[in-house]
Amino acid sequence: MAEEDRRVDHAHQDDIDPGASMRFDRDYPELRDAVRRICSDFTAPYWRELDERRGYPTAFVQALTAAGFLGALIPQEYGGSGLPLRAAAVILEEINAGGCVASPAHAQMYIMGTVLRHGSAAQKARYLPAIARGELRLQAFGVTEPTSGSDTTRIRTRAVRKGDHYVVNGQKLWTSRALHSDLMLLLVRTTPLEQCAKKTQGLSTLLVDLREAMGRGVEIRPVKTLLNHNTTEIFIENLEVPAENLIGEEGQGFRYILDGMNAERILVAQECIGDGRWLLDKAVAYAREREVFGRPIGQNQGIQFPLARAHAELEAAELMARKAAALFDAHQPCGAEANMAKLLASEATWKAAEAALQTHGGFGFAQEYDIERKWREARIYQTAPVSTNLILSYLGEHVLGLPRSY
Ligand SMILES: Cc1cc2nc3c(=O)[nH]c(=O)nc-3n(C[C@H](O)[C@H](O)[C@H](O)COP(=O)(O)OP(=O)(O)OC[C@H]3O[C@@H](n4cnc5c(N)ncnc54)[C@H](O)[C@@H]3O)c2cc1C
Repeated sequence: MAEEDRRVDHAHQDDIDPGASMRFDRDYPELRDAVRRICSDFTAPYWRELDERRGYPTAFVQALTAAGFLGALIPQEYGGSGLPLRAAAVILEEINAGGCVASPAHAQMYIMGTVLRHGSAAQKARYLPAIARGELRLQAFGVTEPTSGSDTTRIRTRAVRKGDHYVVNGQKLWTSRALHSDLMLLLVRTTPLEQCAKKTQGLSTLLVDLREAMGRGVEIRPVKTLLNHNTTEIFIENLEVPAENLIGEEGQGFRYILDGMNAERILVAQECIGDGRWLLDKAVAYAREREVFGRPIGQNQGIQFPLARAHAELEAAELMARKAAALFDAHQPCGAEANMAKLLASEATWKAAEAALQTHGGFGFAQEYDIERKWREARIYQTAPVSTNLILSYLGEHVLGLPRSY
């Protein structure tokens, strides 16, 4: 670079807002502004207090619902905004980038997709307008069980058809938000595994009305975790679910769940990038301000480089998440991209979290700085909704054509 050019660069350096370089190409700017306006009413002390007592942000979720954000994907004919998946992803990203927490509300966006794609006309007419109006909450998704783990086809929760209803018995674990949802999409086995030609057959999805089921076959217990996620375990004993609550065809539930997973991964990837942006913005600001040995700590490459790396990796993850969303919105296959977006975003955000904690020194551990809380929140994406190894296995087998490992 010529000496003159270098001077120009240096002359501008002081004017640059480090966060701005990460924001210049943000899409849906009006939508982002609207989300930010809501988030500005829910500042750090609100989240800190909830984290402390593992509380649910009811007021925040109500504000998002009232503004129509949680009905973003519901078609206009059912009272929603009918926005593309990318717009929903932007809403979740912006919530987290603004220091709030999207996970108490995010599930409604992707669970609703199953009802939308595979529900009957009667189910859509019954549930979607009420969800769009905020009268019904569809925030719980019961897939994982204590014994089957990632091997979803081995779930043991069993539903047996008896006349006009199913009788369900079983147990779910890690069903998040079940105590703050009116409806739960539940994956059950309707045909025993040994009677199925393929293990992916014989699974079905039921929409359970938790308001009716509580105390009448369903018991929900909170599970305290590393982060405030309002997750639960659910015990199901002789629960009667009307047969009309079966989504789509009996036995096809695994396909429906897989269908929804691409949307879930794309949304979660972008939400995770929002956390990464928040952590990086905080760390960069602190690195510029904090002076030790007579100079800003951000002048040291040992502090700069992890932040620069996290920035580069977040930008790369964002490109993949955008590609995945573009394919999804164009109704193109996007399994590989959705998985890669979630993988890259979870790792980039974790690097941002680690760099932010290290940059803040001892202050990073003080609750009032919120770094330790966001660091805990940033860790979940490598495990849920699907763990990193399972994504790598998917890529190994379905993209690279390697032998199936499990
Ligand atoms: C806070 C939180 C919220 C959650 N919310 C929900 C929810 O709302 N609904 C829901 O249904 N689930 C939810 N989950 C469950 C989550 O999706 C699972 O924890 C996750 O899919 C991993 O399953 P597991 O915990 O049973 O781990 P396991 O399947 O037991 O796996 C343990 C480890 O072994 C690895 N592993 C397993 N098999 C293989 C293999 N063949 N090759 C390589 N590595 C392997 C995994 O990658 C993982 O690292 C939540 C979990 C948490 C922690």
